[in-house]
Amino acid sequence: MTTTHPGHPILLFLNTVGDDGKQRRENSFADPGALHRLLVDAGLAIADHPVPDRGQMQSLLILREAAYAVLSAIAASRTPDREEALMLETTIKAAVQDASLLFKPGRLGVSAGPLGGIHDRLALSLFDLLRADDLSRLRECARCTHLFIDHGRGPGRRWCAMTRCGNRAKAEAFRRRKRDNRA
Ligand SMILES: [Zn+2]
Repeated sequence: MTTTHPGHPILLFLNTVGDDGKQRRENSFADPGALHRLLVDAGLAIADHPVPDRGQMQSLLILREAAYAVLSAIAASRTPDREEALMLETTIKAAVQDASLLFKPGRLGVSAGPLGGIHDRLALSLFDLLRADDLSRLRECARCTHLFIDHGRGPGRRWCAMTRCGNRAKAEAFRRRKRDNRA
């Protein structure tokens, strides 16, 4: 697990893949119980929510991958694919339908209704990020598929975290240069 916070809670969920490259084939959590703990820690689920069963895990992972596809496109200033964008639209609308609106100064709060499960909370957190000013600072790691909000000034951050990808990418570049020099 990386210690660098990606900048928005929903990104902690989208970044639950362990792959070094761009495949997104491995989950970073061992089992549904571990994912549940991660979501509770991130404020995306409450301890009272039951640990997702097989069917729920499947729909959570479908949501994760559709959200990744859309946000990855946004981070790269591309138009997201229609299929994934439509899936997110449907999911977010359904969650908002059951949500409570909190009218307060500065910003409208949208929180899951009393019967809303983990899936709804994830959809609403995603909705929050998609409407945030920070969305323009969304970036994808140059090495893996982890997404993060870049709050830095200057040329911008390339890696999800130095410990996860930055140091390894630098070591690879160093080895490549050495090899090229010999050639
Ligand atoms: Zn990375």
